Amino acid sequence: MTVELAARTVGSLVIRGDDALVAKLSSRATAINPSIDLDASATRHPVAVGIQVGHECAVNVQSAGWWAGLGTYHAAGAAEGRNPLGSALAGVLAFTEFFKLAYEPVLATLGPMRASGPGWSLRDWRQREIEDVDLEDLPILAHAPTAIIGCGAIGHAAAFVLGQLPLSRGALELVDPQTISQSNLQRYLGTTPEDAQDNSQKVKTLARLLTPAYAEPVLRVYDWSGYRRRGFDSEVLLSALDSASDRRMLQASLPRLIINGWTRLAECGLTTHWFAGNEQCLQCTYLPQSPGAVRNDLNQIISELGLDPVRVVHLLAGASLSSPDLRGIERHRGLADRSLERWRGESVRPLFGHLCGMAEVRQGVNERYVVPLPHTSALAGLLVAAQFVQYAASLRLETRPLELSLIRGPGDAWQSAPALKDSHPVVCICKDPIYLAGYKDRWPS
Ligand SMILES: [Zn+2]
Repeated sequence: MTVELAARTVGSLVIRGDDALVAKLSSRATAINPSIDLDASATRHPVAVGIQVGHECAVNVQSAGWWAGLGTYHAAGAAEGRNPLGSALAGVLAFTEFFKLAYEPVLATLGPMRASGPGWSLRDWRQREIEDVDLEDLPILAHAPTAIIGCGAIGHAAAFVLGQLPLSRGALELVDPQTISQSNLQRYLGTTPEDAQDNSQKVKTLARLLTPAYAEPVLRVYDWSGYRRRGFDSEVLLSALDSASDRRMLQASLPRLIINGWTRLAECGLTTHWFAGNEQCLQCTYLPQSPGAVRNDLNQIISELGLDPVRVVHLLAGASLSSPDLRGIERHRGLADRSLERWRGESVRPLFGHLCGMAEVRQGVNERYVVPLPHTSALAGLLVAAQFVQYAASLRLETRPLELSLIRGPGDAWQSAPALKDSHPVVCICKDPIYLAGYKDRWPS
């Protein structure tokens, strides 16, 4: 995971370890970035993953089972091989701490804080020392028909982890109409420049990652509306979408369970929705608290991008982004002139999603940098994967929302207070007796 993230971000990477591992990771780094320098003589910010070292490494991460942490913990004899979740978390942690060190001068205004504490468990989402429960073997994973909705950065990160699991007993659909483009590569784990050159379907690059855990995921090259129009349906949805309105639409199909990953600047999180019960559904989670403040997707994109409304309608209808569009967006968001030029000719939705996963950092008065944060979506995807594995392993799901920062964290408390229906003023379908009866008819158990 660390190499997968670093090779998308830095131009020089020196990998040390046993020969077979170095050969494997070097090959992967070169596939991600053919011009990466793997032989630099001078190295900075060394990172140690999974080995005990002294103080020569500024970052040292360890993992076992569901758990990962900093320092030199060593889980002797732990059955790490079957559970890839803790090691994926360690990989994200390693890159996150490296990122803070390497980009320290330009991150200062965002208040970065080095990670500290005893470690974190994806089993109960708590900051704590490793416990026996983290080391329990995963059972055979079995689940109801499930669909990953949105095969973007979060979807690729979830698949990157899920693909390392033992063969799963359950049907999986992948739903996304788009193809891979050059601008996706920095945040899409598992992709290479060839995928962009070949205009590969995102569902195909995701399916490649999921092998061998899922021998034959079903590819649906549609958006959600197209998927539903054709009569497709899934009992469990893994939501990895860009927009609030797209997320809200998922809930109306009344799936049994929705697991939703999200990113915002340097923050990411997870929400989990059963629909019945006291907790908010995905729809009201993405509705503003004030009924009068509900804004539709069009208005949200207009206000975020600062473009003329008529032009936004054209862009949403399929027009490509032009240089004048991009200059306008840069001015509106206070970005450096031409910093978005690589989006020329692309469609507006991926740019909108991309801007939701970037941190803008400032140095001095006149210099500004836009720093895409690939580890934000990597961790969001990992949270989705970990929650889904808990479901597939028949463990009790903790449904409190999760939120954490990768610049000021990961922090000591990922869980927020429960988001209750009663605390939301909007009249939502999850309070509607007809929808609730429909849900209970559909999923009586
Ligand atoms: Zn609701």
